[in-house]
Amino acid sequence: MMIGIDLGTTNSLTAFFDKSSQKPQLIPNRYGDYLTPSAVTVLEDGSLAIGKVAKERKFSHPDRTVTSFKRYMGSNKSFKLGAHNFTAPELSSLVLKSLLDDAQEFLGSRPTEVVITVPAYFSDLQRQATKTAAQLSGLKQVRLLNEPTAAALAYSIQDKEEELKLIVLDLGGGTFDVSIIEKFEGVMEIHASGGDNFLGGEDFTELLKDKISQGLSTKFWQDKEKDNKLATHAERIKKQLTQKDHISQSIVIGGKEHDISISRSEFEELCRELLERMRVPILRALRDAKLNPNEMNYVVLVGGATRMPIIKKTVGAMFGQFPLIKIDPDTVVAHGAAVQSMLLSDNRGYEDRILTDVCPYTLGVEIAEQSNSGHHVDVGIFAPIIERNQPIPISREEDFRPTSKVSTKLDLNIYQGESRYVKDNVFIGKIVVPISKKPADDEQVRVRFTYDVSGILEVEVTLVSTGDVIRKVLQKENNSLSDEEIRQRFIELANLKIHPRESAENLFVSSRMERIYEESLGDVRIYLSQMMTQFRQVLDSQDAKAIQMVRENIVAELDQLDQDYF
Ligand code: ADP
Ligand code: MG
Repeated sequence: MMIGIDLGTTNSLTAFFDKSSQKPQLIPNRYGDYLTPSAVTVLEDGSLAIGKVAKERKFSHPDRTVTSFKRYMGSNKSFKLGAHNFTAPELSSLVLKSLLDDAQEFLGSRPTEVVITVPAYFSDLQRQATKTAAQLSGLKQVRLLNEPTAAALAYSIQDKEEELKLIVLDLGGGTFDVSIIEKFEGVMEIHASGGDNFLGGEDFTELLKDKISQGLSTKFWQDKEKDNKLATHAERIKKQLTQKDHISQSIVIGGKEHDISISRSEFEELCRELLERMRVPILRALRDAKLNPNEMNYVVLVGGATRMPIIKKTVGAMFGQFPLIKIDPDTVVAHGAAVQSMLLSDNRGYEDRILTDVCPYTLGVEIAEQSNSGHHVDVGIFAPIIERNQPIPISREEDFRPTSKVSTKLDLNIYQGESRYVKDNVFIGKIVVPISKKPADDEQVRVRFTYDVSGILEVEVTLVSTGDVIRKVLQKENNSLSDEEIRQRFIELANLKIHPRESAENLFVSSRMERIYEESLGDVRIYLSQMMTQFRQVLDSQDAKAIQMVRENIVAELDQLDQDYF
């Protein structure tokens, strides 16, 4: 069975298309939740735990826990977790495995084929890294789908209207995505996509954290651990400001109480610059699609961070209409991924709704340019081959002339971006073309770029005079793994000890107690200590019934404590 996965920076979800109701259906995880935090932690016994346990432990065990690693997909960054070192795709593969375990439990068989959503603005390397994560998790088939396209798909099956233009704005934890989509006679076409890979809810949290920190008597700037704790509090306060006009509370950090008071309008004032940045990709997408804001039938909001009232206000003002939120912004992308999985596995349905997507950024190569007089050579120039917002799949070629005589090899640097200079664009790979025969004096180099529906780029370089051809998918570059390395790493990851799902609830309750203990002082701590001892004792008894009873009581107490806190 094929399912859809929203592998988010903050939260991940899975869904499948339910044939009987003809609707996407979310798959609950082992806790019965739909959202699985994209977080990994190493427990004291060296085993790994994924999801909401890890999210709790981010506060109490920051050095053994990692979150937001999706931001580093496609980079070389390595994360140290206890005795382990992981890359971002490896951490993502652990999240995927956990989601697949839960899907297997729910559906009765393990899905081996999936649609995974990625931000439209994800680069080639980031997409490759996502595919690597899928391979490392044991998946056989993976199709990537742009997140806003997924959101549009979810809306398109909900809304029976035949003709409409919609703009999807997805503000998640770490990324902002924009897509303009037209539905015409039931067929969807993506007109333009764009976004900002470094703009998300976390940036709002960061601003709030700095603001809170300025008001504190003790400064944590030097102390990374305390600063991280402050960030966790800031995120909570940010969410509370979505509900309330003013927050005033005391938080405990490093065993000391700190009073905090902030109003929603103060917070919104801080966000001005971020809101300005949001406008850039929106205006660009509209320009590329040759549409005006008032031509949009719907403005669809996606992503947890669009819950902030200021986002609705800003977007409403830009488009002259209230944004549409018919499907929960947290789950809409997973819904769309499930729709796509149905369309792919059921060809008949797919034909009804063929969907064209676009390449959201310009792809090209580095060249040097000679001035007209021939005296001056400008280096580091970006020569576009596939321009942004062209429908995909697409294949384009351009001919270039080497500036100097090529003898044994020719280097070709590949970039994505919109600047005239490669230094301001993103380097995505290099191709070295070996030369077998002596090239002609006026050698022509033909470069063909082919960009497929998953957003993966294939480059073909031909030396016209010799006929030498080199073709490659840009995946074996600097930080990508070879097939053999993936196989090796797959085995290593498969051998890691993962905390058993049967005791997931117990582990979660323990982690939650530890987190609340850290956040409290005085009497509450004494009370929690007793609870922790009681829980340890009943766990040792291995009496399932007794464990459940004690656990339920503790959960009720913890809910109360968490509520008092807010
Ligand atoms: P991703 O797609 O990156 O996994 P999500 O769509 O789950 O992200 O959104 C996560 C972001 O949304 C986080 O930055 C979180 O703080 C923010 N968020 C979630 N709920 C709220 C809320 N009620 N108010 C403000 N921000 C929220
Ligand atoms: Mg998302």
